[in-house]
Amino acid sequence: MFKGGYFHKILHVDLSAGSSSTIEIDDAFCEKYIGGRAFGAKLLWDRVMTNGKVDPLGPDNPIIIAPGPLSGTYVPSGGKTSIISLSPATRSYGDSNFGGSFGVEVRQAGYDALMVTGRAEELSYIWIDGDNIKIVKAPKLAGKGCLETEGMIKEEIGDHSVRIAITGPAGEKLVRFACINSDWSRNAGRTGMGAVMGSKNLKAIAVRGGVDLPVADLARLQKVTDKAFDILSSHDLFRFWQANGLMSVIDYANSMGILPTHNFKNTTFAKASSINHDVMRTRYKIGDSACFGCSMCCGNICLVKEGKYAGTVTEGTEYESAAMLGPNVGVDNFSTVLRANYLCDELGIDTISTGNLIGLIIEGYESGLLKLADIDNVPIDWGDDDAIINLIEKIARREGIGDTLAGATPAVLERWPQLAPIASHTKGLEQSAYDCRGAISMALAYGTSDIGAHHARAWTVAREIEMGAKWPLEKKADLVIYHQTLRPLFDMLGVCRLPWIELGLDENLYAEMYSAVTGVDVTLEQLLEKSAAIYDMTRLINVRYGIDRKDDYPSTRVFDDPVQTGPRAGSHVDRQEYEKLLDIYYQKRGWDADGKPDPKKAESFS
Ligand code: SF4
Repeated sequence: MFKGGYFHKILHVDLSAGSSSTIEIDDAFCEKYIGGRAFGAKLLWDRVMTNGKVDPLGPDNPIIIAPGPLSGTYVPSGGKTSIISLSPATRSYGDSNFGGSFGVEVRQAGYDALMVTGRAEELSYIWIDGDNIKIVKAPKLAGKGCLETEGMIKEEIGDHSVRIAITGPAGEKLVRFACINSDWSRNAGRTGMGAVMGSKNLKAIAVRGGVDLPVADLARLQKVTDKAFDILSSHDLFRFWQANGLMSVIDYANSMGILPTHNFKNTTFAKASSINHDVMRTRYKIGDSACFGCSMCCGNICLVKEGKYAGTVTEGTEYESAAMLGPNVGVDNFSTVLRANYLCDELGIDTISTGNLIGLIIEGYESGLLKLADIDNVPIDWGDDDAIINLIEKIARREGIGDTLAGATPAVLERWPQLAPIASHTKGLEQSAYDCRGAISMALAYGTSDIGAHHARAWTVAREIEMGAKWPLEKKADLVIYHQTLRPLFDMLGVCRLPWIELGLDENLYAEMYSAVTGVDVTLEQLLEKSAAIYDMTRLINVRYGIDRKDDYPSTRVFDDPVQTGPRAGSHVDRQEYEKLLDIYYQKRGWDADGKPDPKKAESFS
């Protein structure tokens, strides 16, 4: 049926057995699961929906790395790759993604996805050179940073063009929010996928490909992608985007009153203009960078030229990292933001979770909920760059209080339950950098996200604020569900969603691109139906791992602690209204009042 789009092959490496094999997938599999995140969810399903529960850090938990059928083709921004596993952060379904070119190389090696199971006897990396697969012992990589590891493996292989996915020292130490890093600083940051690699004694995966990608109708693909590239490059904001990337969101979020400030206590930051896109571009930026096939090139290569962090070079920072390592911890010095971002990338920890946890500790200490002895007798205050940088290093190496923080919010609250009212998380995953107290739909988006409080599934805050307070709850639930269906579709296709989000590229074009690549005509609606089914699937995995209605709430602060100042002053989410909205959401999804899909739906995935 498919004349392009798929190799019909998944590479499985079993580290315990020291062997590799190929799993053949047929057209029916490809048609149902499309690729990327959904390929991963299905492979995960087959291995974790067992009678017992699989330990996220045990050898039986698979980790799947899956680009999509559009990855590496001529489409705009086709360099996205999903990473799927049981999450050590939420102890349920997890995924994250990165850009760059790693997934493209996986496809060029002739695979639709990689799956790794088991545990190597000692620290190793996997070397995939087309169909020649090796597991290489690499004790010398222990404790090495991501960039350093990338260089060492490239030297050893003798080819600097290979693509490598790496976990840093934090992944080796099983920090629950460890990342997987590729192409310098493209990170799959959320849900602790780096810790899953660490638990397998897997430091890195290197890949080199060389085969052409299967495209059914090249002329048709060229026509639609030319149109898409033209739409993007003629957009009024295209040049602005190239120059500033996501850093321009700092000013936007501050003006909207949704910028996380002082551990989400406040939502505007008086010194936002010290760390915004203008400061980045005029005083720090030395170059652009882009993922494969992306004309938007949102990466900003920055250099700290003076001061105690002089010499720091990083491909960043973007909005989420700048907000969480800036205003959320009270930092108004962009050099410090860059240094913190660099360390998170090199040590391999997620900037969003890190900024949340450090903010939580600072507020806990400031408010007297934590004593000096709790924080290793090292006082810490908002904007205290030395203490903040020190804490990042301690987390990654699990030293002192860093050992507790490395366990993420669940471990912090187990040790200090008094911090619960000021901890921002859902299902154990720390909240993304958008306050939701002025937009109940955003609270629902965080609450019902299958991976915890991350905005990647649904970002509805701006639309709700635009529509005003009288916008009916039904419409808010519809919007969240539409986002939760469309956004994961980009992850299934293997493309970046930013052309759609930032420059309004028509989502219907993606159905046309998929049709051209595969040779099978589909509509956007048909693709969305498949994506919606995957949301049921990941929910069923979560239900199997103990998730239900009790876990579908944003953080306590969202309900109990109104915004103090700025345009959202006085805003908070009303609990009764949230319960009502959650009921409506479940009804629209066809889930029961406890948030559980009909168990019969499981049959279609088994
Ligand atoms: Fe990568 Fe940015 Fe382009 Fe998306 S917009 S593909 S993140 S460079």
